[in-house]
Amino acid sequence: MNKAAGSHFWDVDGNRYVDYLGAYGPIITGHAHPHVTRAIQEAAANGTLYGTPTELEITLAKMLKSAIPSMDKVRFVNSGTEAVMTTIRVARAYTKRNKIIKFAGCYHGHSDLVLVAAGSGPSTLGIPDSAGIPTSIAHEVITVPFNDAGALQAALNKWGDDVAAVMVEPIVGNFGMVMPKEGFLEDLCRLARQYGALVIYDEVITAFRLHYGSAQTFNGLANHEAIQPDLTALGKIIGGGLPIGAYGGSKEVMEQVAPLGPAYQAGTMAGNPASISAGIACLEVLREEGVYPEMERLAVKLTNGLADSASRYGIPLTINRIAAAFSTHFCDHPVTNYEEAQDTDSDLFAAFFRAMLNRGVNLAPSKYEAWFLTTAHTDEDIDFTLEAAEASFREISGK
Ligand code: PMP
Repeated sequence: MNKAAGSHFWDVDGNRYVDYLGAYGPIITGHAHPHVTRAIQEAAANGTLYGTPTELEITLAKMLKSAIPSMDKVRFVNSGTEAVMTTIRVARAYTKRNKIIKFAGCYHGHSDLVLVAAGSGPSTLGIPDSAGIPTSIAHEVITVPFNDAGALQAALNKWGDDVAAVMVEPIVGNFGMVMPKEGFLEDLCRLARQYGALVIYDEVITAFRLHYGSAQTFNGLANHEAIQPDLTALGKIIGGGLPIGAYGGSKEVMEQVAPLGPAYQAGTMAGNPASISAGIACLEVLREEGVYPEMERLAVKLTNGLADSASRYGIPLTINRIAAAFSTHFCDHPVTNYEEAQDTDSDLFAAFFRAMLNRGVNLAPSKYEAWFLTTAHTDEDIDFTLEAAEASFREISGK
């Protein structure tokens, strides 16, 4: 691809695609949104990097804090990976413990500690998911199934004294869009605290994706008070398409971070005025009245059409839609955890992906990734996409 605008991008041969990848999430206002572009241009003209704090950082931090109240204090970094990595360090510093519990299929960036898969048995320590990660590091991580409070309880029974944090995507975006079952986050927070561990929410995808706020305050989840984390990691949307990450939490926990506390974190590029300006501009667009309901209206129309079309050709399709983000699973069972997301037809997904690409629709190139609507998508885009889907389902069904 070499050019993008609004809900579309174009490849080097000049072919146009309707884009539902949204660069894996950040591009929620569409490509090259004029307000965001202007903010980046103005920031660039004022100098892209100072190495000193700026008022812009304070503005964005206040916007984050008012939308995500559990974040008393915020630090900016350069990516979601860095944000997550640092929340783990802070949790370890605060608890003086080493181990982390995470959930199978949740993705938390590419740092050593979180690129670890479940061990072979139900109650074993982790194994590295990539070459270059020492087994000794993987052994600091315990992976349990999402939506399974019993498994979390069992892991805490066994290792609770050394668990610094339970880390989760509170609404999952990395093995499809998956809601926590009723009571799961409440149980997770209660159990973690019972064993003296902190709760870390990775909201790199979910923050500002589902509404102007995060999963912690999403009206699709009840009982917000009982599901507040100690630390939150952010990225993607809060940088409006430029590199960014942020983490934050309660004042007491965040005071572990140097220079106030003993946990070191720094970054030459962190809080750079261009990324911060793009983030502020993006959130300004998103907080306008009616933006999220309109994206959701289009997502409902699109998912209804996809479901109808797939069923016309006898193709099993489970769609998990949460607000204006959704995932399509080629299977005839619900998808509530990673195992169920794996147990879907990869060949059918690959054929569908290619058929759609050939018809000018760009989806995420993985059966585990979501479709994201943006403020730039229109009814015309949805109609175009549904026509492409009808033809694609017909092609892959062989009918
Ligand atoms: N956490 C989650 C939930 C993510 O989806 C991602 C990226 N897909 C990351 C962390 C890592 O963010 P980045 O790619 O900016 O390092």
